[in-house]
Amino acid sequence: MLKLESKIALAKFTSIKIGGIASQFYEPTNLDDFTQCLNNLKDRSIPFFILGGGSNLLISSQGFEGLVIRTTKLTNITQIDDTRILADAGVRLPHLAKFAANLNLSGLEFSCGIPGTVGGGIIMNAGAHGSSMSNLVEYINIFDLKSQSIKKLTKNELAFEYRKCILDSQNEVVLNACLKLEPGIKEAILAKIKINEDYRWRTQPLSYPNAGSTFKNHSIDKQAGKLLDLAGVKNLTCGGASVSAIHANFVINIGQASSSDVLELLKKMQDSVWQKFNIKLHPEWKTLGRFENTIQDIWG
Ligand SMILES: Cc1cc2nc3c(=O)[nH]c(=O)nc-3n(C[C@H](O)[C@H](O)[C@H](O)COP(=O)(O)OP(=O)(O)OC[C@H]3O[C@@H](n4cnc5c(N)ncnc54)[C@H](O)[C@@H]3O)c2cc1C
Repeated sequence: MLKLESKIALAKFTSIKIGGIASQFYEPTNLDDFTQCLNNLKDRSIPFFILGGGSNLLISSQGFEGLVIRTTKLTNITQIDDTRILADAGVRLPHLAKFAANLNLSGLEFSCGIPGTVGGGIIMNAGAHGSSMSNLVEYINIFDLKSQSIKKLTKNELAFEYRKCILDSQNEVVLNACLKLEPGIKEAILAKIKINEDYRWRTQPLSYPNAGSTFKNHSIDKQAGKLLDLAGVKNLTCGGASVSAIHANFVINIGQASSSDVLELLKKMQDSVWQKFNIKLHPEWKTLGRFENTIQDIWG
């Protein structure tokens, strides 16, 4: 019998610390319970959402009438052979990078400042410092909600692109992933991780709650942060949400921000870039819950 909880506040499960109440909530601690829960969804009319680290997500302050399944207690990592590791969907990427370093395995250094999980990292094809999850994934196991079965998908079948892959979280749920790494030297790998971490502390507003880059880059030479900076949005504030003075593509929660504050700010950021450059920026974040109509303008 799976133990579902009722009326759980979601803000604390997101990196930007915004989000109302979920009517139901479940945290599986192993893959059997996870798949059993997913299997039970076929009999339910209630909507559901798979929550990883909540680090690329805006949840409505009005909450979510449905079941949130949070993966972060799925934390198994197995070394399969000299260069391959199999990691559960809920393993945090920075932890995995350090785990791999201790095995003298290189490749995950780029991910040490990305506070998401393996599952969220694959859905988003998380990347930084010239690499991304797509460079490492050999195969993943998913639960396919349509056929109610577990399937193995190879890297090619996932059709990775910039910040996305073929999977739709409402139908295909990542259970675990096999990553192929390169032999390396622990000390050198840890030194690279430290350089990447230091770079982030210099260039990103990490002392405030935030959800990473707000908008996707328009193109390689038209990065969202640069366009937003030139459009003059730094320090723009709506209620408790503000554009960081350090990085114009980061929205920070300066205290009690609501999802409405954030939407109002995103609209102003998007409009500023449109007016200056005739470019419509598209949000990188996913959303959950009920929002006012402006959300269609911003995400549409
Ligand atoms: C300070 C900071 C820095 C960041 N830097 C970067 C960066 O450099 N590069 C980058 O790419 N991103 C970055 N991000 C964004 C974010 O960390 C990544 O997008 C990350 O991959 C999201 O993973 P998550 O587990 O938090 O996903 P969540 O935010 O929980 O969810 C994102 C989406 O994935 C889905 N999902 C999660 N787990 C599963 C699963 N097991 N199966 C199916 N669907 C699932 C959710 O339903 C949702 O649609 C940053 C964020 C922060 C706060």
